[in-house]
Amino acid sequence: MTPRLFVVSGPSGVGKGTLVERLRERRPDLGLTVSATTRDPRPGEVPDVSYHFLSNEEFDRLVDEGAFVEWAQYGSNRYGTLRSEVQKNLEVGHSVVLEIDVRGGLNVKRLFPDAAVLVFIEPPSREELEHRLRHRGTEDEERIQVRLAQVAREYEAAKAYDAAIVNDDLERATAELAELVQAEESK
Ligand code: 5GP
Repeated sequence: MTPRLFVVSGPSGVGKGTLVERLRERRPDLGLTVSATTRDPRPGEVPDVSYHFLSNEEFDRLVDEGAFVEWAQYGSNRYGTLRSEVQKNLEVGHSVVLEIDVRGGLNVKRLFPDAAVLVFIEPPSREELEHRLRHRGTEDEERIQVRLAQVAREYEAAKAYDAAIVNDDLERATAELAELVQAEESK
């Protein structure tokens, strides 16, 4: 078994968090990296489990120290994958799942061309996703345009991904992801 870095990305609201949770129920040996972020915790989020919540100064310091495998600005906040989170799993021979955005995914592939496997989670229909974003009614036109542009960028970057899984049915999509993980580990 070759431990690998599985990057799971996809548009916001596609259900990638739930999919990764289901995968880890089947494969509890898979490590999950806890990202660092400068954004505030949302209700229900647990520090150091959901994210390492950092101040801007703390984040800057870690950037300077080279502590991140990759980091990216997303909206007004920064997010990054800590080298230590990846290493502690690889060292004990476990594959790792990184739930990060597409730019982060491409960076991870550049740094770990052999170990990284990039998986893009798609909604059943891109048109439906865009329709939902347009008609949620909670956001002004400018915000909607920002989100639509983000979706377009994600699909563009996803062309360089290794696999795409459509999250049309959670059980089916979980099974497909678990199979892909197993197949990649046995290469
Ligand atoms: P949220 O604020 O909704 O938790 O996350 C916003 C976006 O940041 C999501 O697309 C999520 O995948 C991405 N993200 C979370 N952690 C990281 C990370 O460590 N690196 C990168 N590049 N993106 C991340």
